[in-house]
Amino acid sequence: MRDCGRRCVYCGTYLDLENATLDHVFPLAKGGTHSPGNLVLACCRCNRLKADLLPGEFFIRFPWAGMNFMHYARTVHRALKRCARRAVSLAYAEAA
Ligand SMILES: [Zn+2]
Repeated sequence: MRDCGRRCVYCGTYLDLENATLDHVFPLAKGGTHSPGNLVLACCRCNRLKADLLPGEFFIRFPWAGMNFMHYARTVHRALKRCARRAVSLAYAEAA
């Protein structure tokens, strides 16, 4: 909880124990691991929204989630942040 400032890393919503879930940034179903660098706090809604999408796919589809992720997810692997940054800039380039 402490690591992410008690906010959902995708939408920035404040979390309490009721709506907080642990999300594997790189989904277990796609070969992700249980290491702390792959785990973030997310609200139920974002967790459901993300489901088994790869982080790159998710952030291209929902660039706002990528922006929040770069801001709030302090403990994740740097590679995941790089991936988020790339996906967000791609999404905005396509929208422009
Ligand atoms: Zn959320």
